[in-house]
Amino acid sequence: MYLKQREGWIEVITGPMYAGKTEELIRRVKRLEYAEQNVIVFKPTIDDRYAADEVVSHNNTRTRSINIMKAAEIMTYVEKDTDVVAIDEVQFLDEEAVAICEYLADHGLRVIVSGLDRDFRGEPFSFMPRLLSLAEEVTKLSAICVCCHTPATRTQRIVNGKPANYSDPIILVGAKDTYEARCRHCHEVPGRPAVYDALGGNHD
Ligand SMILES: [Zn+2]
Repeated sequence: MYLKQREGWIEVITGPMYAGKTEELIRRVKRLEYAEQNVIVFKPTIDDRYAADEVVSHNNTRTRSINIMKAAEIMTYVEKDTDVVAIDEVQFLDEEAVAICEYLADHGLRVIVSGLDRDFRGEPFSFMPRLLSLAEEVTKLSAICVCCHTPATRTQRIVNGKPANYSDPIILVGAKDTYEARCRHCHEVPGRPAVYDALGGNHD
Protein backbone atom coordinates (compact mmCIF):
# COMPACT_ATOMS: atom_id res chain seq x y z
CA MET A 1 0.00 0.00 0.00
CA TYR A 2 1.08 3.56 -0.70
CA LEU A 3 0.78 6.39 1.74
CA LYS A 4 2.11 9.90 1.47
CA GLN A 5 3.60 11.76 4.38
CA ARG A 6 1.40 14.60 5.51
CA GLU A 7 -0.35 15.75 8.59
CA GLY A 8 -2.88 13.25 9.82
CA TRP A 9 -5.24 12.86 12.71
CA ILE A 10 -8.20 10.93 14.11
CA GLU A 11 -11.62 12.43 14.75
CA VAL A 12 -14.36 10.43 16.47
CA ILE A 13 -18.09 11.13 16.37
CA THR A 14 -19.74 9.29 19.23
CA GLY A 15 -22.84 9.13 21.45
CA PRO A 16 -25.94 6.90 21.78
CA MET A 17 -28.21 5.69 18.98
CA TYR A 18 -30.39 8.37 17.29
CA ALA A 19 -27.87 11.13 18.07
CA GLY A 20 -27.11 11.79 14.40
CA LYS A 21 -23.60 10.29 14.33
CA THR A 22 -23.89 8.87 10.82
CA GLU A 23 -25.48 12.06 9.55
CA GLU A 24 -22.52 14.04 10.91
CA LEU A 25 -20.04 11.61 9.34
CA ILE A 26 -21.78 11.96 5.96
CA ARG A 27 -21.78 15.77 6.30
CA ARG A 28 -18.01 15.79 6.85
CA VAL A 29 -17.43 13.36 3.98
CA LYS A 30 -19.48 15.47 1.56
CA ARG A 31 -17.64 18.67 2.51
CA LEU A 32 -14.31 16.96 1.88
CA GLU A 33 -15.51 15.64 -1.47
CA TYR A 34 -16.51 19.18 -2.49
CA ALA A 35 -12.97 20.15 -1.50
CA GLU A 36 -11.74 17.49 -3.97
CA GLN A 37 -10.23 15.29 -1.30
CA ASN A 38 -10.04 11.58 -2.02
CA VAL A 39 -12.28 9.97 0.57
CA ILE A 40 -12.97 6.28 1.13
CA VAL A 41 -15.91 5.35 3.37
CA PHE A 42 -16.13 1.95 5.05
CA LYS A 43 -18.78 0.23 7.11
CA PRO A 44 -18.89 -3.18 8.81
CA THR A 45 -20.93 -5.75 6.88
CA ILE A 46 -22.98 -6.47 10.01
CA ASP A 47 -24.85 -3.23 9.53
CA ASP A 48 -27.14 -3.91 6.54
CA ARG A 49 -30.05 -1.91 7.92
CA TYR A 50 -30.57 0.28 4.89
CA ALA A 51 -28.36 -0.33 1.91
CA ALA A 52 -25.63 -2.65 0.73
CA ASP A 53 -22.96 -0.28 -0.56
CA GLU A 54 -24.00 2.97 1.03
CA VAL A 55 -23.88 4.57 4.46
CA VAL A 56 -27.37 5.93 5.14
CA SER A 57 -28.41 8.09 8.09
CA HIS A 58 -31.78 7.94 9.87
CA ASN A 59 -32.54 11.20 8.01
CA ASN A 60 -31.87 9.40 4.72
CA THR A 61 -28.71 11.29 3.77
CA ARG A 62 -26.28 8.86 2.15
CA THR A 63 -22.83 8.32 0.72
CA ARG A 64 -21.16 5.40 -1.10
CA SER A 65 -19.26 2.98 1.07
CA ILE A 66 -17.26 -0.24 0.98
CA ASN A 67 -18.49 -3.12 3.15
CA ILE A 68 -15.80 -4.84 5.16
CA MET A 69 -15.80 -7.86 7.45
CA LYS A 70 -12.48 -7.13 9.16
CA ALA A 71 -10.63 -3.93 9.92
CA ALA A 72 -7.51 -5.20 8.13
CA GLU A 73 -9.36 -4.97 4.79
CA ILE A 74 -9.15 -1.17 5.02
CA MET A 75 -5.43 -1.34 4.23
CA THR A 76 -6.07 -3.06 0.89
CA TYR A 77 -8.19 -0.14 -0.35
CA VAL A 78 -5.99 2.76 0.73
CA GLU A 79 -3.99 4.20 -2.18
CA LYS A 80 -1.18 6.70 -2.58
CA ASP A 81 -3.68 9.50 -3.27
CA THR A 82 -6.15 8.69 -0.47
CA ASP A 83 -6.61 11.73 1.76
CA VAL A 84 -9.39 10.63 4.09
CA VAL A 85 -10.64 7.33 5.53
CA ALA A 86 -14.08 7.38 7.15
CA ILE A 87 -15.62 4.45 9.04
CA ASP A 88 -19.25 4.30 10.15
CA GLU A 89 -20.35 2.06 13.07
CA VAL A 90 -16.69 1.40 13.88
CA GLN A 91 -17.62 -0.33 17.16
CA PHE A 92 -18.79 -3.38 15.15
CA LEU A 93 -15.31 -3.97 13.67
CA ASP A 94 -12.61 -6.01 15.40
CA GLU A 95 -10.14 -4.33 17.73
CA GLU A 96 -7.46 -4.04 15.02
CA ALA A 97 -9.47 -1.00 13.88
CA VAL A 98 -7.73 1.01 16.61
CA ALA A 99 -4.23 0.20 15.37
CA ILE A 100 -5.26 0.88 11.77
CA CYS A 101 -6.74 4.29 12.58
CA GLU A 102 -3.54 5.17 14.42
CA TYR A 103 -1.36 3.94 11.54
CA LEU A 104 -3.31 5.88 8.92
CA ALA A 105 -3.20 9.08 10.98
CA ASP A 106 0.54 8.63 11.53
CA HIS A 107 0.93 8.41 7.76
CA GLY A 108 -0.84 11.66 7.04
CA LEU A 109 -4.46 10.65 6.54
CA ARG A 110 -7.46 12.25 8.10
CA VAL A 111 -9.43 9.48 9.83
CA ILE A 112 -13.09 10.12 10.65
CA VAL A 113 -14.96 7.43 12.56
CA SER A 114 -18.40 7.26 14.10
CA GLY A 115 -19.54 4.76 16.68
CA LEU A 116 -21.41 4.08 19.90
CA ASP A 117 -19.50 4.95 23.07
CA ARG A 118 -21.68 2.70 25.29
CA ASP A 119 -23.42 -0.64 25.01
CA PHE A 120 -27.04 -1.17 26.05
CA ARG A 121 -25.89 -1.70 29.65
CA GLY A 122 -24.53 1.85 29.67
CA GLU A 123 -20.95 0.58 29.82
CA PRO A 124 -18.07 1.53 27.49
CA PHE A 125 -18.38 -0.28 24.15
CA SER A 126 -15.46 -2.70 23.59
CA PHE A 127 -12.43 -0.82 22.16
CA MET A 128 -14.16 2.58 21.86
CA PRO A 129 -12.46 3.98 25.00
CA ARG A 130 -9.04 3.39 23.38
CA LEU A 131 -10.10 5.09 20.18
CA LEU A 132 -11.51 8.05 22.10
CA SER A 133 -8.21 8.38 23.98
CA LEU A 134 -6.10 8.31 20.83
CA ALA A 135 -8.26 10.75 18.85
CA GLU A 136 -7.25 14.36 18.30
CA GLU A 137 -10.88 15.41 18.26
CA VAL A 138 -13.99 13.88 19.82
CA THR A 139 -17.52 15.04 19.06
CA LYS A 140 -19.93 13.59 21.57
CA LEU A 141 -23.49 13.97 20.32
CA SER A 142 -26.62 13.45 22.37
CA ALA A 143 -30.09 12.37 21.31
CA ILE A 144 -33.37 13.27 23.04
CA CYS A 145 -34.66 11.02 25.83
CA VAL A 146 -37.95 9.42 24.75
CA CYS A 147 -39.20 9.52 28.38
CA CYS A 148 -38.39 13.01 29.68
CA HIS A 149 -37.22 14.89 26.55
CA THR A 150 -33.89 16.02 27.98
CA PRO A 151 -30.56 15.24 26.23
CA ALA A 152 -30.03 11.47 25.99
CA THR A 153 -26.61 9.86 26.38
CA ARG A 154 -27.66 6.20 26.72
CA THR A 155 -29.12 3.56 24.38
CA GLN A 156 -32.05 1.73 25.97
CA ARG A 157 -32.50 -1.82 24.76
CA ILE A 158 -36.03 -3.24 24.87
CA VAL A 159 -36.52 -7.00 24.46
CA ASN A 160 -40.05 -8.28 23.88
CA GLY A 161 -41.44 -4.99 25.23
CA LYS A 162 -39.38 -4.86 28.45
CA PRO A 163 -36.03 -3.26 29.37
CA ALA A 164 -33.22 -5.72 28.61
CA ASN A 165 -31.61 -7.37 31.61
CA TYR A 166 -27.98 -6.65 32.46
CA SER A 167 -27.09 -10.31 31.84
CA ASP A 168 -28.89 -10.61 28.48
CA PRO A 169 -26.55 -11.61 25.65
CA ILE A 170 -26.10 -9.13 22.80
CA ILE A 171 -27.93 -11.51 20.45
CA LEU A 172 -31.12 -13.10 21.82
CA VAL A 173 -32.41 -15.69 19.35
CA GLY A 174 -36.11 -15.28 18.62
CA ALA A 175 -36.49 -12.06 20.63
CA LYS A 176 -37.72 -8.77 19.24
CA ASP A 177 -35.11 -6.13 20.01
CA THR A 178 -35.79 -2.43 19.81
CA TYR A 179 -33.72 0.54 20.92
CA GLU A 180 -34.50 4.00 22.30
CA ALA A 181 -32.43 6.99 23.30
CA ARG A 182 -32.65 7.77 27.02
CA CYS A 183 -30.95 10.02 29.56
CA ARG A 184 -28.91 8.79 32.52
CA HIS A 185 -31.96 8.88 34.81
CA CYS A 186 -34.48 7.13 32.55
CA HIS A 187 -32.05 4.43 31.36
CA GLU A 188 -33.20 1.08 32.81
CA VAL A 189 -30.99 -1.99 33.13
CA PRO A 190 -32.57 -4.52 35.53
CA GLY A 191 -29.90 -6.52 37.36
CA ARG A 192 -27.12 -3.96 36.85
CA PRO A 193 -24.68 -3.69 39.76
CA ALA A 194 -24.68 -0.20 41.34
CA VAL A 195 -22.20 1.80 39.26
CA TYR A 196 -21.05 3.63 42.38
CA ASP A 197 -19.97 0.31 43.90
CA ALA A 198 -18.49 -0.99 40.65
CA LEU A 199 -16.31 2.14 40.40
CA GLY A 200 -14.99 1.67 43.93
CA GLY A 201 -17.29 4.12 45.71
CA ASN A 202 -16.85 4.37 49.47
CA HIS A 203 -20.05 4.24 51.54
CA ASP A 204 -18.41 5.48 54.77
ZN1 LIG B 1 -34.95 10.93 30.56
